[in-house]
Amino acid sequence: MLSSMPITRNRVTTQIFWASLLLGFCLVSALAACLWWAAGRIDARAIAEERMTVEAALRQEMERIPIDQDGSAVWDDAVLNVRNNNQDWIADNLADWMSEFFGHNRVYVISPEGRVIRAAEDGAYAGTTYKPIDVSVLLPRLAQLRRQMAEASLGLEDSTAAIADLGVLEADRLSDGSVVFVSIRPVVPSSSNVLQSPGSEALIASVKLVDVPMLTEISERFGIKNLHQVHYTKDEAAFRIRDGLGHAIASLTWTPARPAAALLVETAPATVGLLLVGLTSVVALLIWLLTTSLKLEKSREQTAYFALHDPLTGAANRILFDRKLREAMNYEFLARAQILLVSIDLDHFKEINDALGHAAGDQLLKEVAQRLMFELPEEATVGRLGGDEFAVVQPGIISEGQALWICQRLLNALEKPFHIDDSPVVVTFSLGVALEDGASVSHEEILRRADVALYAAKAEGRDRFKLYNESMDQSRREKRALEIELRNALLNKQEFYLQYQPIFAARSGKIAGVEALVRWQHPIRGAMPPDQFISLAEETGLIDQLGHWVMGEACRMAVASELPWVAVNVSPIQFRDPQLADKILEILVQSGLAADRLEIEITEGVLLQNSPIVQQTLTRLREAGVRVALDDFGTGYSSISYLRAYAVDKLKIDQSFTQLVIEDHAIARIVRSIAEMAEALGMSVTAEGIEDEAQRRTLANLGCTHLQGYLLSRPLTGTQLTALLAEHHSGALVRLFARD
Ligand code: C2E
Ligand code: CA
Ligand code: CA
Repeated sequence: MLSSMPITRNRVTTQIFWASLLLGFCLVSALAACLWWAAGRIDARAIAEERMTVEAALRQEMERIPIDQDGSAVWDDAVLNVRNNNQDWIADNLADWMSEFFGHNRVYVISPEGRVIRAAEDGAYAGTTYKPIDVSVLLPRLAQLRRQMAEASLGLEDSTAAIADLGVLEADRLSDGSVVFVSIRPVVPSSSNVLQSPGSEALIASVKLVDVPMLTEISERFGIKNLHQVHYTKDEAAFRIRDGLGHAIASLTWTPARPAAALLVETAPATVGLLLVGLTSVVALLIWLLTTSLKLEKSREQTAYFALHDPLTGAANRILFDRKLREAMNYEFLARAQILLVSIDLDHFKEINDALGHAAGDQLLKEVAQRLMFELPEEATVGRLGGDEFAVVQPGIISEGQALWICQRLLNALEKPFHIDDSPVVVTFSLGVALEDGASVSHEEILRRADVALYAAKAEGRDRFKLYNESMDQSRREKRALEIELRNALLNKQEFYLQYQPIFAARSGKIAGVEALVRWQHPIRGAMPPDQFISLAEETGLIDQLGHWVMGEACRMAVASELPWVAVNVSPIQFRDPQLADKILEILVQSGLAADRLEIEITEGVLLQNSPIVQQTLTRLREAGVRVALDDFGTGYSSISYLRAYAVDKLKIDQSFTQLVIEDHAIARIVRSIAEMAEALGMSVTAEGIEDEAQRRTLANLGCTHLQGYLLSRPLTGTQLTALLAEHHSGALVRLFARD
C-alpha cells in the first residue's frame, strides 16, 4: 500500500557516477605517472651525459699530464742538463717550471739510479727526496717503467727510439685518501745529436691531485654543478675513478641538472591548475549527469507510479489492483489460505458530491482511501476502481470469522464522521465480500462475486457488508433475465399498460385528476407491480424509454377524457437528460394536451441533486404551464428551503404519514404544519394512501387539499376510469364526500 510516492535512487546511476569518477581519477593519475616516468627517463639520460662529461674532463686532465711532460722532457738540452745535474736549468725548464706552469702538484726528476735529482711542489723547490706520501705510489711504477724500458732497449746502443713512447699514466689513491694522477715519462733527446745508452735515462714523474680546485674548474668549464669527491655513494649522479688494475679508488658526485624534473617543477603551478580545472570540470559534468539522470529517474518513477496509482487518493488503480489480486491468487493457490476481496461503495456518493461540491467529494474520497489503508495490514492492497468504488484485497486469510472481523473493522473505521471543510459528514458504505482460495475460482470470478455481494448489500438497504453466497447469484441471474425481458417488452410495448388512480378534491369530493401508474403484464410472471421493475429500468437506463411511453400514453388518455389533469411520475434518472423538458413539451404538442392539464410527480432526490439541468428543466416546464408535484414528501430530507428555490406546485404527503396519522399525534401535527406552510406558499397538498374513513377525515381536517387512496379509488384501467368518470359526472360518488 502506498500513500506517498517513494523515490528510490537508482543504483545504476550511482554506480556510473562512481565509476566515472574513479576512471577520471585513474586517467589523471596515469597522466601524472607518465609525465613523471618520462621526466625520470630524460633526467636519467641527462645524468648519463653529465657522467660522460665528467669522465671526459677527467681523462683530459689526466692525459694532459704526459703531454705537458713531453714538452720539456723530449729535448736534447733536458738530457744533457739533467746528466750534468744543472739545478738551475732543471728548475727553470723541468721541475719547478712544470709544477708552476702546468699545475702538476709535485714533479720529480729522477736519475737513472733512482735518486731524486730535484723535486718541486706547487711551483717551488722541494728538495731531493720523495715526499713520503708519494713513495708508495711512485716506487712500484718507477720500477715497472724501468723494466719495460730495459726490455725495450735490450741490446741497443741507443734507447731513444725504443722507449720514447713508454710511460706510466695511472690514477691512484694516496694513503691520506687523496686521489692523484701519476704520470712518469723518460727524459729523451729530441735529436740524434745526443745519444743515450739503455739504463742511463733519467725519468720525470708528476703527481697531480684530483682536488677541489681541479673539480671546481671542471664544474665551471662543463657546467656540472657541485662536482666533488666522496668516499662512497649510491647516487646515480656519480663517477668512479679506477686505478690501473680497474679498482675503484674514489667516487665523484655532483648535483644533476635534472632538466625534466626542473621543467616539471617550474611548470607545476600551471600543470596543477590545469589538472584542477580538468578535474573540476569532470566532477561538475558528472554531477550534472547525475542530477539530470536522477531527475529523469524521478520523473520516470513518477510516471510509473501514476501509471499504477490513482493520483487523487494514492490507492492502487485497476491495473495494479488486478496485478495484486492475481499475485495473491497464485500465492494462495500454493499456500492454501484464502483471499479476501472486498468491494466498497459509498452510499449516495453522487448526492453528497452534488450537495457539497466536487472539491469536497475529492477530499472525502481521499480520506476514505486513507482510512482503509490505515486500517489494513501491509500485505493488503487498497484500490480505487472507479469514481466512488474502492476495493481491498488481502491474502492469507485463514477463516471466515477473520474475514468478517476485518470487514466489520473497515465498516467501523468508515462510520466515523468525515471532516470535510471542517464540518462533519456522515457517510455510509456498502461492502461486498468474497472469500475464496486461489485454486477454485478465476480472477474474474472472485471480482464478480464481490460485486454480486456488494449488490446484495445495497439491495438490503446499504450501510452493511455481505459475504457472497451462491443464492445471490440466483437473484442476480433472475434480475438479468428480467432486464432482457424488460428490454424486449419496451421494444413491442404490448405488455405495458397504464392504470389511473383518481385524486379527489378533499372538500368537494370531486375527482380533481388522476395519477398514471404503469403496469407490466408479464406473459409468464403475470402482472408485475412497478416496484419490481422501475428500479431495474432506472439502473439499466431503460427508464427514459419507459417514461417517455408512459407520458405519451397518459397524455393521449387525458386529451380524450374530460379530466382536469393527469399526473405522471418522472424518475430522477430521467432528469439527467437535458432534453427532458423538450421531450415532454413535444409529447404535449403531439397529443394535443394543454400543458396546464399535465402534472409531473418528482421526488426530493431530484431537487437535492441541485444541478443546473434540473433547475432548467423544471423552470421550462413550469413556464409552459406544467405543474410540479413533490411525491413521497416527508420521507427524504424534506428541506423547506428548496421548496422555495424550486417553486413546486404541490406536495404529496407520503403514505407512511397517512398510516400513522390516527395514532401518532406528532405526525398529525407535522401534517398540519406542512399543510399550513404549503398554503402559505400557495401550494396544494395531497395525502396519499387513504385506506379508511378515519384517515380521510383526519387528513382533510388537517388541511390536505387532495386525497388519494384505495378507500376512494383503486388504480383503474382506462375503461374503468371512463366508467367512473361518467358515474362521477352524474354525482353518484359524491356521497363518499358527504361533508363531515
Ligand atoms: P407512488 O408514486 O407513490 O404511487 C402511489 C402508489 O401507491 C401506487 O403504487 C398506488 O397503487 C399505491 N396506492 C394508492 N393508494 C393506495 C392505498 O390506499 N394503499 C396502498 N397501500 N397503496 C396505495 P404502484 O402503482 O404499485 O406504484 C408504486 C410506485 O411505482 C409509485 O409510487 C411510483 O413511485 C412508481 N411508479 C408507478 N408508475 C410509474 C411510472 O409510470 N413512472 C415512474 N417513474 N414511476 C412509477
Ligand atoms: Ca406518484
Ligand atoms: Ca407517492
